[in-house]
Amino acid sequence: MYRSPRVFQASLPLLLAVFALPLGRAQKAPIEITVDLSDAPRKLFHADVDLPVMAGPISLTTPKWIPGHHMPNGPVEEITGVVFTANGQTLPWRRDDVDIYQFHLTIPQGVTTLHAHLDCIVTSRISQKMAAMEWETLLLYPANMPVRDIAIQPSVKVPAGWGVGTALTPVSSGSYPVPAAGAVTQFAVTNVEQLQDSPIITGQYFHEFPLAPEISPKHYIDVVADQPEDSNLRPSVLASMNNLVREADALYGSHHYLVYHFLLTLSDVAGGMGLEHGQSSDNGVGEKGFADDAHELREADLLPHEFTHSWNGKYRRPVGLYQPDFATAQQGALLWVYEGMTEYLGDVLSVRAGFETQAQYRDKLAQTAANLDYTPGREWRSTEDTAVAASVVQGARAWWNWKRGQDYYPEGELLWLDADTLIRKLSGDKKSLDDFQKIFLAKGGNTGPLIVTYGFDELVQDLNAVVPYDWATFLHDRIDKINPHADLAGIEQGGYKLVFKDKQSATQRTMAAAPGGRNSGTNCWFSIGLRVGGDGTISDVRWNGPADKAHLAPAEKIIAVNGQIYSAEALRSAIRDAKGNTEPIHLIVQADSFVSMIDLDYHDGERFPVMERVEGTPAYLDDITKPLTTPQKAPEEEKKAEE
Ligand SMILES: [Zn+2]
Repeated sequence: MYRSPRVFQASLPLLLAVFALPLGRAQKAPIEITVDLSDAPRKLFHADVDLPVMAGPISLTTPKWIPGHHMPNGPVEEITGVVFTANGQTLPWRRDDVDIYQFHLTIPQGVTTLHAHLDCIVTSRISQKMAAMEWETLLLYPANMPVRDIAIQPSVKVPAGWGVGTALTPVSSGSYPVPAAGAVTQFAVTNVEQLQDSPIITGQYFHEFPLAPEISPKHYIDVVADQPEDSNLRPSVLASMNNLVREADALYGSHHYLVYHFLLTLSDVAGGMGLEHGQSSDNGVGEKGFADDAHELREADLLPHEFTHSWNGKYRRPVGLYQPDFATAQQGALLWVYEGMTEYLGDVLSVRAGFETQAQYRDKLAQTAANLDYTPGREWRSTEDTAVAASVVQGARAWWNWKRGQDYYPEGELLWLDADTLIRKLSGDKKSLDDFQKIFLAKGGNTGPLIVTYGFDELVQDLNAVVPYDWATFLHDRIDKINPHADLAGIEQGGYKLVFKDKQSATQRTMAAAPGGRNSGTNCWFSIGLRVGGDGTISDVRWNGPADKAHLAPAEKIIAVNGQIYSAEALRSAIRDAKGNTEPIHLIVQADSFVSMIDLDYHDGERFPVMERVEGTPAYLDDITKPLTTPQKAPEEEKKAEE
């Protein structure tokens, strides 16, 4: 049964009361929207929308602030071919002069249904073989109304033979998930808030796998891919997915969906994505993203992260990040919980589920912690400010280490590790952050899709319910204040310390070697203070580091190193050779159409972050990542164990 989401400050009586409210109170007939994705291979979506109306002026809108994006980037510029008709007549419209997402028109006397046709020119998440459709590309509904009060009935048409993955409830189960050729799949009436939260993926090479069948409600992973072999996920990936559902069930002790669909697209042309929804998540990785262990290691945290958002971000939402419409600005102040705690929990779950090992987790954590510690922008900007300014720090590249990017993700990871290990320490290892989740993320027990907002004080109150401590000061000190160094207390309380070695960790080497990796290029960040692309182009320079002092800048290109044409190995061996002597590293660098000689005075050799065990202290870091349930092994792993 569909349950309407409502929004309010958390309190149990209110939660219970809301379930008794009638649905769809503000509007009698639902909007009907039929999207036609048949033109997906040409990167076009179409929609026909029938809206119940009354005579007089009306303002319709498309979404501007998309939940989960944390910025006003609704794709209004791609919505085109907008034509309104009523009783067979075309009606004139005018865009709002200030809010360009709004269309104004006047409904003639006697008209009760307005028809709108619109097209969307799709620029991402689409290929010849698949498409991911987020509803903001085609939605149109009355402006200036809470979107949860607008009832809407969705239908979808897809290319013949293409499968459909979505958390929406089909009206006729026979036409879903692979509809008959030319069929329109109709879904149950919902509201605009929920519809926007329920994307559709469709593709020629489609697989739907049920997960952890003993757990209620039901979970599925729906996969579309550009190549037929990729959508049939490896048994080891499916084993980890089953484990993920069981581990999340054990960790959170509640759920806030009636069904959950992991939607996964595997394509080199459709682009990457990780977008949370209450009952599903839209996940996009490269064609081979889960085809072998090296690629899987790189994507290990994606599905656990987006799944965790169903609890942390969707169900529990910072009060400023929830708006009753998609027009009012969202406020990012608590993103270090929404994203930061999700980053922490997603990484922990990826180990508990078996996507990565404890050692790989520690190697990645060392890299995260070192990156933050070597981010000089922390000398002027607090972590909270990266969250408040979330809509303008996204995509920062040149000098990002001085500007700071979306640091509320990794800063949050270290913060919540600090809190977790501190709870373990204070409680004599009897309590952990898992206990906090069973309070904070489980208020009201199991629910359908629901948004319950919170503020800073509730976090403090719930942490105190686990272990009494001055949590307000703990959080303020780490989030609002200028901290020139990263919060490494969680690593130390966890029984490890961050050190630098002259060799990369095994995990860093594996991830760097996977083709098309995010880590391709050369990372000399902790030595000379440079990140360099495969062709020698400098992607960033560490503020105040040796390369900065030598006046190098992002976007310049290193042409030669110590008299040799640039290669990653030439640069790395020059760094090694300069160790312990006084001869600078000689570079020839191209900036725009000019070339110059640069001497880089650096003599400490290569430096890579790794984690080192502190013997004789509790290894909480390893306790934290132990599975709570008995993990399922893939058939090939079981066979290996028997041999
Ligand atoms: Zn996230």
